[in-house]
Amino acid sequence: MCSINEKTPWRTPFHALLICLLCALVPASAAAERIQVVASFSILADLARHVGGERVTVTALIAPDTDAHGYQPRPSDARLVRDARLVLANGLGFDPWIERLARSTGHDGNLVIATDGIEPLEDSGTHQGHGHDHDHAHGPLDPHAWQDVANAQVYVRNIAAALARVDSEGTAVYADNAARYAERLRQLDDEIRSTLSTLPISRRKLVTSHDAFGYFGKAYGMRVLPAAGVSYESEPSAAGIARLIRQVRREKVPVVFVENISDPRLIERIAHEGGAKVGGKLYSDALSGPDGPAPTYIDMMRFNLDTLMKGLLPETG
Ligand code: ZN
Repeated sequence: MCSINEKTPWRTPFHALLICLLCALVPASAAAERIQVVASFSILADLARHVGGERVTVTALIAPDTDAHGYQPRPSDARLVRDARLVLANGLGFDPWIERLARSTGHDGNLVIATDGIEPLEDSGTHQGHGHDHDHAHGPLDPHAWQDVANAQVYVRNIAAALARVDSEGTAVYADNAARYAERLRQLDDEIRSTLSTLPISRRKLVTSHDAFGYFGKAYGMRVLPAAGVSYESEPSAAGIARLIRQVRREKVPVVFVENISDPRLIERIAHEGGAKVGGKLYSDALSGPDGPAPTYIDMMRFNLDTLMKGLLPETG
């Protein structure tokens, strides 16, 4: 970092050493000044890292490959929320605990709901796999909005605006990062559309553990048949599971999918009794760890697309 040449008026070697030590400390202090951002879960944290770039340090409170529904925050989560300049929640009932933490630490001024402006879907699981009767006009909202890449664009805009509000000096950087990332998301959206369009309509059925793919199905033309609703708070009923098994058998659904955050046994049973195969693992509510196949949002969407195509595309020849 320090370049010392003969013109530098160092009075003593001690002064030169002191200056060099100060130079060495600069990166550490710059890092310490990064904007501390806390996000409830890994997918949201990844989006925030792309928008924030070098100016931010983002911490996800829920670990990779972990179910966020019914998460119980730890005391260390409360400390991180209290010390953060920006607290990011998904909203739509996905992570109400982080909203409560932000309020209880008096930090709700720094709380931003990343899904603000997104048109929410309702729980389609109540129509499909559950044993619910007719009164499902106002089911719980479906929080898994990130599964439609167009919605991820809304998250990115909300995050960029929130970061600019808490760190106005970085406004141009955040806008630039967001624009570049938005272009990658646009390409990803095109890729998902064009790839799935090669799948025959009769094969576009996504049977999985819980109702995490409603936005994906609506955006990309897949029929989603989940065993459980938008969260695991109510166990799927025996009648609902039996109905789903009959549907898999009747419609000759070739494969069903497990999820990275769920116990695979229910899906394995549905596959076994419905005459289908288990077609692999989808990343629904959490990324993988850094060494897994879905360490970022874009990797996750590509991995899921690849898994769906490998499972559902008819074998040729
Ligand atoms: Zn979920």
